[in-house]
Amino acid sequence: MSNHLFDLIRSRISDPTTLFMELQDGRRMSYGELVAETARYANALATIGIRPGDRVAVQMEKSPAVIFIYLACVRSGAVFLPLNPGYTLNELDYFISDSGASLVVCDPEAQLGLTRIAERHGAKLETHGSDASGSLYEKASPAASDFADVQRGADDLAAILYTSGTTGRSKGAMLSHDNLASNAVTLAEVWRFTPSDVLIHALPVFHTHGLFVATNVTLIAGSSLIFLNKFDAKTVLGLMDRATVLMGVPTFYTRLLDETGLTSEATARMRLFISGSAPLLAETHREWSKRTGHAILERYGMTETNMNTSNPYDGDRVPGTVGFALPGVEARIVDPETGHPVPQGDIGMIEVKGPNVFKGYWNMPEKTASEFRVDGYFITGDLGQFNARGYLSIVGRGKDLIISGGLNIYPKEVEEEIDALSGVMESAVIGLPHPDFGEGVVAVIVREKGSTIDENAVMAGLNGRLARFKLPKRVIFVDELRRNTMGKVQKNLLREHYKDMNFNAKGMD
Ligand code: AMP
Repeated sequence: MSNHLFDLIRSRISDPTTLFMELQDGRRMSYGELVAETARYANALATIGIRPGDRVAVQMEKSPAVIFIYLACVRSGAVFLPLNPGYTLNELDYFISDSGASLVVCDPEAQLGLTRIAERHGAKLETHGSDASGSLYEKASPAASDFADVQRGADDLAAILYTSGTTGRSKGAMLSHDNLASNAVTLAEVWRFTPSDVLIHALPVFHTHGLFVATNVTLIAGSSLIFLNKFDAKTVLGLMDRATVLMGVPTFYTRLLDETGLTSEATARMRLFISGSAPLLAETHREWSKRTGHAILERYGMTETNMNTSNPYDGDRVPGTVGFALPGVEARIVDPETGHPVPQGDIGMIEVKGPNVFKGYWNMPEKTASEFRVDGYFITGDLGQFNARGYLSIVGRGKDLIISGGLNIYPKEVEEEIDALSGVMESAVIGLPHPDFGEGVVAVIVREKGSTIDENAVMAGLNGRLARFKLPKRVIFVDELRRNTMGKVQKNLLREHYKDMNFNAKGMD
């Protein structure tokens, strides 16, 4: 029987003894062993009663077992639903109920809290520890190492990933076998993955970046990965003498830059550094090139669409841009209101179309319909512009757009000017309710170590660099900008925290 995604993965295994994964404790697993292990888990799922189309919700700390369960779901025709281990019981209640999960797999320590929730929603509950423990492990380990993969076509669902959802309810993005397969094939090609590649895998596996981009690209290329349970700059740096590729969020790169051992010698064996999930500061890109001689390759994607664009493998990897649409993917910039393409160079809504784009939001047909244009383009919610050379830049999320006195202000434009000031490490520009202007521009700034830059110096530095209406009306200094696990600055938290800002107090407008 044919199983769209797993057949493809299988077809790329030329030698079952090839190394697939190496763990931190030195254990190694070949591709042949991976196929056997995922068969054991698929057999265990069948014993539990999981049927094709059933949702399997997994909230576990990062461990190789999460990958095995993901692939076992693919082979069983079940729908894998990974959940951030940081979610609270209250949040889990929503995900389990909304998805109608048939099975919940959790760490043994979480069993007590989850039992009632699973019962309430009619889901079975199994446990799995990061090591060899838990009821699911007990079922899988003695199970048969072969499994007849369940028939699944290109459009059948492989996974539902809930979006990180900074506003409103988190939505379940339905990803098909071909959404995942097509994107992995494309990325493996454009990033020139081969069986000799060794990827340092330090990303979480509940998110599209670590789960699909890193893992599926490795599988499709027959490469191997060094699986780390979490990111640690020293550990990652220490692995660079025997790895070839690192995929990371921008925070990985800024943390690595803090390591004195990061040099061109230390990275000489590495072939490629890839960044995504959040904007990589142009300054980080330049600093990295200076220190290592490698130009970080930045790409752009999202849970709903997998990856959309990438800087080129050959050719300029331009700091502050996310490159060109991937082969087979179409990207355009339109006026958010009318949906009409804007003139080249103008800012507008990024819309994408291609085999990578998801099948819609689980149980939300109306929401799904409102996020697609009639010609099939998905409205990403990201604002961007193409430069004269066709490189795409992202200027922020639609909801981060500030409208002050009726004029649009794109936070990134202001942030770039602020970040360029000496003494500033980074900044986040937000709009807060303002009595006269609707929204007032507020800059939240992290100083460089030892810097004493103050509000007046920031305003003096920006004077003449930006139109007056874009200038911050207030400047706030903080020790750090809070980011989520994927390195995104949580502007919604900043907006909430400072929502009662008194603009008149400073009389700066
Ligand atoms: P997620 O669904 O959690 O992967 O988040 C997707 C969002 O992350 C996108 O819609 C963008 O807003 C942002 N994002 C992803 N990659 C980049 C990038 N390279 N530069 C800027 N923003 C990015």
